[in-house]
Amino acid sequence: MELMYASTRDTNVKVTASQAVLKGLSEDGGLFVPEKIPALDVSLKELSGMTYQETAYAVMKLFLTDFTEEELKGCIRAAYDSKFDTEEIAPLVSADGAYYLELFHGATIAFKDMALSILPHLLTTSAKKNHVKNEIVILTATSGDTGKAALAGFADVAGTKIIVFYPKNGVSPIQEKQMVTQKGANTHVVGIHSNFDEAQSGVKQMFADKDLARELAGHGYQFSSANSINIGRLVPQIVYYVYAYARLLAKGEIQDGESINVTVPTGNFGNILAAYYAKNMGLPIAKLICASNENKVLYDFFTTGAYNKNREFLLTSSPSMDILISSNLERLIYRIAGNDAAKNAAFMKRLAEEGVYEITPDMMAKLDDFYGNYASEQETADTIRKLYKHTGYVLDTHTAVAASVYRKYQEQTKDQTKTVIVSTASPFKFTRSVMNAIDPVSNEKGDFELADELSKIAKVKVPQAIEEIRSAKVLHQTECEASQMQDAVKKFLGL
Ligand SMILES: *Cc1c(COP(=O)(O)O)cnc(C)c1O
Repeated sequence: MELMYASTRDTNVKVTASQAVLKGLSEDGGLFVPEKIPALDVSLKELSGMTYQETAYAVMKLFLTDFTEEELKGCIRAAYDSKFDTEEIAPLVSADGAYYLELFHGATIAFKDMALSILPHLLTTSAKKNHVKNEIVILTATSGDTGKAALAGFADVAGTKIIVFYPKNGVSPIQEKQMVTQKGANTHVVGIHSNFDEAQSGVKQMFADKDLARELAGHGYQFSSANSINIGRLVPQIVYYVYAYARLLAKGEIQDGESINVTVPTGNFGNILAAYYAKNMGLPIAKLICASNENKVLYDFFTTGAYNKNREFLLTSSPSMDILISSNLERLIYRIAGNDAAKNAAFMKRLAEEGVYEITPDMMAKLDDFYGNYASEQETADTIRKLYKHTGYVLDTHTAVAASVYRKYQEQTKDQTKTVIVSTASPFKFTRSVMNAIDPVSNEKGDFELADELSKIAKVKVPQAIEEIRSAKVLHQTECEASQMQDAVKKFLGL
């Protein structure tokens, strides 16, 4: 049976998986959601004997039902190969009573690689399946990590171009260097004089602009999205939750069927939504612990039922989580509204117009699976320092937000359930904040010097992704205002 995808804002929209991958966002502004979440059709025991690639096939085939076995296996093979520096792809590390699921062993040392190494293959396969002749233009807004991972994934992929917008002063120096040194004739990078939310709104506006779409089509182009709203990003992210559970089972850390908790450092709500989908597929997950930094919109939402983006936007040491509009939350809102597109659309309209909406008590009751909390900058730094002093294991700032929130959860609930903390970036990506947390460093020291020091104290080699950009040439220097994003796109495409 074919699994179809509906829009969260219009019940009349029904598309296949490959069409949803191709479109990214529905024309009504809604997100594509599977009409029902499929159940795992292999046992946990069987999964515990599988490689990452085999697990990926077992999970993804249930969602991408219009892909042939050969097509899907081809995409998986091309994605999860030696671009990752470990055969395990996503290793689990035990430290201080929790399991850290390291999702940073790909090309750009952040978890975005997990999905963005496969998305280009899912997208070009989808284009072929749907007889698309246009060249695909990927538009992406990034809070830091998506941009580089998308650039790395799409660079020189035939039939595609990629344009990335990032907040000029809102990413770490290493993140910026990673992006502006990107090679590939089909890649474009633009720093905008604003924050991530403005970049994301600008991209969303271009996707929704029908005149612009016509103009593009006239030149043989069409837009698609690599942002975490694309179902082709979400589905590959479900895989590592299933894999993590299966590894714990294989190692005898848990019994077959035993529930675990997961703690996820959250920004756009994509990663934790994937965990929620995994739970709904039948994976024994008890609590989904949603960790925010000082931009704690989600914490307030889970505690009060009101989503309110009308607040100061803070720049923190975990920039990939500096977000006030968590786009993927819409998929959860739609679901707890009883898959009611009209109801969801009304909430999203209020969010767009007033910056705030409040869910009903009925909907609130369906959020029992979630626990939300946040970590201050000080708590985040303390967590990095203490864990390092205690165990020698060094966390990046995003993962430290999660570890800090997990401690709060444990103190409040005394819950002893075994817990996987999702580790979303290598500490080498945020060396200054990490090193400052352990022991204050002088501003004189450069980021690469700090990487060498981190390597010494953590007894971990400087990752290849950092070595590569040390001396790489800057290839992208375009900057613009948020209001000029469309002009930048037209210029790149020669329209
Ligand atoms: C993107 C990102 C996050 C947030 O993930 P979402 O899916 O947007 O919630 C957390 N940590 C790092 C390092 C990231 O790159």
